[in-house]
Amino acid sequence: IVWTEGEGWHDAAVLPYGPLVLDPAAAVLHYAQEIFEGLKAYRQADGSIWSFRPDANGRRLQRSARRLALPELSIDDFVESLRQLVSTDAAWVPSAPETSLYIRPFMIATESFLGVRPAQEVGYYVIASPAGAYFANGVSPVSIWLSTEYSRAGKGGTGAAKTGGNYASSLLPQAEAYEHGCAQVLFLDSVEGRYLEELGGMNVVLVYKDGTLVTPESDSILEGITRDSILQLARDRGHAVQERRVTIDEWREGVASGDIVEVFACGTAAVVTPIAMLKAEGFTVGSEDAPAGELTMSLRQELTDIQYGRLPDRHGWMTRLV
Ligand code: PMP
Repeated sequence: IVWTEGEGWHDAAVLPYGPLVLDPAAAVLHYAQEIFEGLKAYRQADGSIWSFRPDANGRRLQRSARRLALPELSIDDFVESLRQLVSTDAAWVPSAPETSLYIRPFMIATESFLGVRPAQEVGYYVIASPAGAYFANGVSPVSIWLSTEYSRAGKGGTGAAKTGGNYASSLLPQAEAYEHGCAQVLFLDSVEGRYLEELGGMNVVLVYKDGTLVTPESDSILEGITRDSILQLARDRGHAVQERRVTIDEWREGVASGDIVEVFACGTAAVVTPIAMLKAEGFTVGSEDAPAGELTMSLRQELTDIQYGRLPDRHGWMTRLV
């Protein structure tokens, strides 16, 4: 769908997949004025195809648009864009266990203009790709690397928006995480360097001995839809849930004293991933062979059961696409 200043959104079309033609002076190539989303479509047992909380992704795209001075797309147009793409070929959505169709909506500034101001011509696109089970051999706990040198987003920056620049700044620390044998990098806040933020592409949750779930509160992290959903499922089971500032020392001391009994990461791609160990320059927390937490795995199971239609959708999270 194309947007132009004064005209709004127009010319929606479903086109064969292929290269985009962009002017070399397109604003997105120079000033990174772009945003995106990531969500999945799931095939349920009766063959119907559903997506999980697409309205929440649509609202997050609107919030990202405001921060990046891009036009907002209505939630209806957002959900309709997913439906139109997926229904071109429903066979695209795989049916093997734990597989899905990963959907990537994105919006870029297409205007050719080298001045620094919001573009007056914008394109919104949706592409998709079948996705295998994230953990082919069963869910296994991962280690994560604490970046003390780099932060992902600064105070007042674009951290809460889903925009490429945040990911560009995470690539180097993420590469360091791999070098240390870790699956993801953990970022701390950019002001004091001691409050937990999030991982390269997932949110983080600590589980206390008394059953309380704690997740970092910050205005520079991505508000994950998986996190919100997992916390809701935990509340439904009677767990206390706290969204508050958490220091790295609280994590270290909590694991050492036995007050923190499970830690997990969550996001659309891997759903819920147990974290066995945190590695940092000079110290580690937990141990590499720590087993997956019981609550972690049972919340993961409940969420995927809802997504694949194996459990009733009591919160009205599922939207049928085809
Ligand atoms: N934080 C970051 C930086 C991410 O890229 C993602 C994945 N979109 C998340 C958190 C988790 O968000 P969600 O649960 O909506 O996928």
